[in-house]
Amino acid sequence: MEYRRLGSTGLKISALSYGAWVTFGRQVGRSEARDLIALAYDNGVNFFDNAETYNAGDAERLMGDVIADLRLPRDAYCVSSKVYFGAVTDPKPTQRGLSRKHVFDACHQALERLRVDYLDMYFCHRPDPDTPVLETVWAMDTLIRQGKVLYWGTSEWPAELIAEAHRVARDNHLIAPSMEQPQYNLLHRERVEREYGSLYEQYGMGTTIWSPLASGLLTGKYNDGVPGDSRLGQPGNAWLRDALLEDDGAKLKAVRALAPIAADLGLPMARFSLAWCLKNPHVSTVILGASKTAQLEENLKALDAVALFDDAVMRRIDKALTAS
Ligand code: NDP
Repeated sequence: MEYRRLGSTGLKISALSYGAWVTFGRQVGRSEARDLIALAYDNGVNFFDNAETYNAGDAERLMGDVIADLRLPRDAYCVSSKVYFGAVTDPKPTQRGLSRKHVFDACHQALERLRVDYLDMYFCHRPDPDTPVLETVWAMDTLIRQGKVLYWGTSEWPAELIAEAHRVARDNHLIAPSMEQPQYNLLHRERVEREYGSLYEQYGMGTTIWSPLASGLLTGKYNDGVPGDSRLGQPGNAWLRDALLEDDGAKLKAVRALAPIAADLGLPMARFSLAWCLKNPHVSTVILGASKTAQLEENLKALDAVALFDDAVMRRIDKALTAS
């Protein structure tokens, strides 16, 4: 495993990490979750990603239960939560958003569900137009000073708002965000590569990137239809299937255009697509998703493939994507 600094912080996280999103508590039950976390940890993964909203808190409960059961040493792994969407299906006004009230309640609930005394990383899952940025920055600063959170960050915030959070933090002597959690993959590049360009140098922001395989599209498994046992084949994920596939086949066309490049490098599409994400120096960690141990075993091999991505390969990829 390779370990990368989380932006300009001193925290070293594994370049490949593992997240719970739509799998834990839905596709993946307790024994599979135990096998997946154990496999990840045994291969050097030291960061496990979660959020209050994943399966209405059940993904955190399951992860906390399994980590406790595996007796992972608390100082050898990092765990995150995210606040914004709430952990109940029909949240009351104080049960979602980034108010001081909800940020505090959600943090305490995540600590309980994950069965830890502190969160290594705590993310504002989306911007909250109804809460002043100062209020949220202050709430995060307080949680850090109370020892309940070590590093706080944002997820899918516009660059301008992240810059504002830094300004507000500096002007009020508060702790600024250290990392952003954006989507980043071969089919979704704009924010990480262009919009966030100034954030890395100016504020030392790290990134913990999500959906590196675009929910599995970049494995090629959807090229000939939606397999029944896949993420997009789950009845509860129809919204995600529509979001990813209702585009007149544009994304699948791009995936097909990349296939010959992966084949020339001798790489399966999943490993190829993950290695491409790892190649970006602004990526602190690629959060893997996997519903089966065989997938995770395959995906953990991606680090060995990064050296194959020289300038000529990167140019070929860009050309194939532009033409598709
Ligand atoms: P991916 O894009 O890598 O998708 C993972 C899914 O793809 C798996 O669950 C599996 O689904 C399929 N897959 C993975 N590897 C293989 C393989 N080798 N062969 C075939 N199929 C494979 O990642 P996620 O979308 O899960 O995102 C990763 C993490 O990022 C999440 O768990 C979460 O922690 C975080 N996240 C954060 C968000 C945010 O807003 N901050 C939003 C979304 C995710 P299946 O077997 O079911 O087909």
